[in-house]
Amino acid sequence: MWLAPSSLFRARRARRLMLGQAGQIDLAANRAVTSDHLSVPSSICMHPDPALPPDRRNMTVASAVVDLTACRLWVTDGPPCEAEYHSYDRQA
Ligand SMILES: [Zn+2]
Repeated sequence: MWLAPSSLFRARRARRLMLGQAGQIDLAANRAVTSDHLSVPSSICMHPDPALPPDRRNMTVASAVVDLTACRLWVTDGPPCEAEYHSYDRQA
């Protein structure tokens, strides 16, 4: 699996943001974390860095949140800062 050099930073940032909302994590809280733009262009929600050659640019193209209690999957078709989450229920 290929990881962007900023993956470790982004993972720590996401963990810190989630811990700040412990006990209150819902879809909106997840969206806030996955849409975080601190340290653009290497933020959690990544957008292409025009300073890089085209073959080195990265972008978040989707986001997924799983609600294990409700057995529901929430997915975006695009960066979470722009795209809406659509829900899918577990098929019985
Ligand atoms: Zn974004």
